[in-house]
Amino acid sequence: MSELRWDPLKKNWIIMAHEKGRIPRDFFRERKPRILSVCPFCYGKEEKTSPEVFVVRPESSPADTPGWQVRVIPNKYPVLNAEGRPDERSRGLFRSMEGVGVHEIIIETPDHERGLADLSPGEIVNVLFAYRARMLALRGDDRLRYVLLFKNYGEEAGEGISHSHSQLIAVPVVPPVTAAEIEACREFHESEGDCLLCAMLRQERAEGERIILENEHFIAFAPYASGFPFEMRIFPLVHCHDFSRITDQEMASLASALKDVLQRLKKLLRDPSYNFILHTAPPPPQAEENANGLPGCYHWHLEMIPRLTKITGLEWGSGFQVNPMPPEPAAAFLREVNISALDEPFDIIYRFSQE
Ligand SMILES: [Zn+2]
Ligand SMILES: [Zn+2]
Ligand SMILES: [Zn+2]
Repeated sequence: MSELRWDPLKKNWIIMAHEKGRIPRDFFRERKPRILSVCPFCYGKEEKTSPEVFVVRPESSPADTPGWQVRVIPNKYPVLNAEGRPDERSRGLFRSMEGVGVHEIIIETPDHERGLADLSPGEIVNVLFAYRARMLALRGDDRLRYVLLFKNYGEEAGEGISHSHSQLIAVPVVPPVTAAEIEACREFHESEGDCLLCAMLRQERAEGERIILENEHFIAFAPYASGFPFEMRIFPLVHCHDFSRITDQEMASLASALKDVLQRLKKLLRDPSYNFILHTAPPPPQAEENANGLPGCYHWHLEMIPRLTKITGLEWGSGFQVNPMPPEPAAAFLREVNISALDEPFDIIYRFSQE
């Protein structure tokens, strides 16, 4: 059985190649243990990294020493340079600009043995808190147009150091994937007067079969046109274009939704590699700032891609993604996973180590 499905957000066709009776076990990948003799992200190695730019730690504990819970540091091997101006140059057809930007690592826990799925919701709130703080702080830099937050977990997902961390890249142009999503949302908003993603959420909720969980503020589902087996998206239920506007209460809800889906994924597929990416609207250029922000038609979300299949010439060459596990059975498998209660109390303790 095969079906082509259109994704109105990504504007592409997915080949849903349901090979009959595929089950989660068919997607298990063997994880090789990786040996690290010295981990630069563990307690006691703070002097081996760049000085922290944001940290969650008790007031009494000095910067760049043990005692922290979440630590944000500049990447030692950044893909972009912190200095310079992103001025465009052109020579005939060829355009370039200096590779200016910020590349930071968010160390999510001091515990080398635990992944994001194993942290308590309270600990995950601290990670989200760091995301929001860095996103807001970097908006002050007028050379940068966008802050991309993402996570590579496991070797297939491109993880370098096997100590739980996510990354942030602040770039001088809006990344093409986000720009294309914003354009799709803008077009829909112009023709329908509605947010494309609010409309998508309504339809997903009405149909129900792809929903994985819903809590007070967030919903997680396997999208109708999933390009990857067990792909998930997490959306705030109330329309908002900008992640940095998330309230502390919503952050607690997001942390528990995130923990819930990560636990399901881990249990169902034996701790698979995954990437997640935070998609949010770029801040308006200072001159265009208005009361509503920009663009009101976008709706921020998290995209979660388990790395279970290989990208082949068919995908590269055509742009079609081929997905052997449609979202309906994927969501059913994920819903059925039995995870224990997640209600743990938490405190937020934080301070800036550098301003
Ligand atoms: Zn470590
Ligand atoms: Zn919306
Ligand atoms: Zn997206």
